[in-house]
Amino acid sequence: MSDFRAVIASVRDGEGMTPEQCDWVARASTDGTVPDYQLAAWLMAVYIRGLDAETTFHLTDAMARSGGPPAEHLGRVDKHSTGGVGDKTTLVVGPLVSSFGVPVAKMSGRGLGHTGGTLDKLESIPGFRVDWSKQEFSALVARVGLAVAAQSSELAPADGRLYALRDVTGTVDSLPLIASSIMSKKMAGGAPALVLDVKVGQGAFMRDRARAETLARLMLEIASRAGIRAAALLTNMDQPLGYAVGNAAEVNEAVDTLRGAGPADFTSLSVAVASEMLRVAGEPEAHPASVQKRLASGQAFEKFLEWIRAQGGDSRVFERDGHLPLAPVHRVWEASRGDQVARIDPRLVGEAALLLGAGRRVKTDRINPRVGVKVYVKTGMRVDAGTPVAEVFGEHPTDVEAARALLQQAVTWGEPVRHWPTILATLPE
Ligand code: URA
Repeated sequence: MSDFRAVIASVRDGEGMTPEQCDWVARASTDGTVPDYQLAAWLMAVYIRGLDAETTFHLTDAMARSGGPPAEHLGRVDKHSTGGVGDKTTLVVGPLVSSFGVPVAKMSGRGLGHTGGTLDKLESIPGFRVDWSKQEFSALVARVGLAVAAQSSELAPADGRLYALRDVTGTVDSLPLIASSIMSKKMAGGAPALVLDVKVGQGAFMRDRARAETLARLMLEIASRAGIRAAALLTNMDQPLGYAVGNAAEVNEAVDTLRGAGPADFTSLSVAVASEMLRVAGEPEAHPASVQKRLASGQAFEKFLEWIRAQGGDSRVFERDGHLPLAPVHRVWEASRGDQVARIDPRLVGEAALLLGAGRRVKTDRINPRVGVKVYVKTGMRVDAGTPVAEVFGEHPTDVEAARALLQQAVTWGEPVRHWPTILATLPE
């Protein structure tokens, strides 16, 4: 039947879609031959009725091909994080994995809302460039073994239109739609091996652990059907990752971690992600102990500096224990009495950074790279009176005060109700 109503009705009635119908959806989303209202109805049908794993794979595959055949992947392994507050993992695992001689070529995005984007973080380094032609990007990977560039809108264009429609039709939160959206871009980018960091908790897209695990398993199944060697980590986003939230502050924290002096949770996540990346890339040295040793050796930090210079960044700021400068108005909040940290709401911490200008509420907002917050406490930690709880860096005293008030709301005191480890699970087990 040549009427898109048949595709909508089939999903609505729980009959799923044929591979040809999946192709139709991807094609129609790219060339505009089906109007928004029909695609919106189809999205709602998928949202309510779901799709089985096989159909989700066919849809993902069709979306991945919507911009042409998959790109030739220049690295040996890729990673994807579903996004969280303080997630600067790429800045550490890129050089760490590359220091083992495994090239990493990564397409990244910008931040929106309470979570930041890798490109924004990197651009807080003076001179760092993220827009490269295909040839330049390929030359960077060949020379340095590591490159990070802006994701082109040509990559799985079907996802661009579908995602924009999901955003305005209440259909973002659907497992087959999320899995196909993420995996279509990874498949279009030609990833030969992939590690998925699926965040779970109050600051994540997936707040519920069981649902996050179902999403991770669905993405792993898509990867397996697509011939991609993949692993997934379910990781804690019930509190910010590391201490720093804000672009330059997060680069500084990544640098500290590469110097062997990063926060414990962020260091252990970086080691776990890098070990899995090396394992799926087929490297025999993949075990976490050797990755930890490499981090301590300073070789990954050397690779970081080489990479920053290669992409036009001024690495001199990091010499002699140096850091990027942060905004001038800063205030430390200290505990007024001895207590235990019950909970740190990562969304409110993200909001505090956003309020200072570290992120975007809408796509066109400009970012201030040097503002941000650092939350030094972790769930379950006991503090004494005078222990630094958090620090705020802003341009104006009024913003700094407002951010501090938000942080005070974000941290609650007493016995923790839920206390997750940094890594909840590694899949497949
Ligand atoms: N990230 C994506 O790229 N797509 C989704 O649907 C959700 C998160």
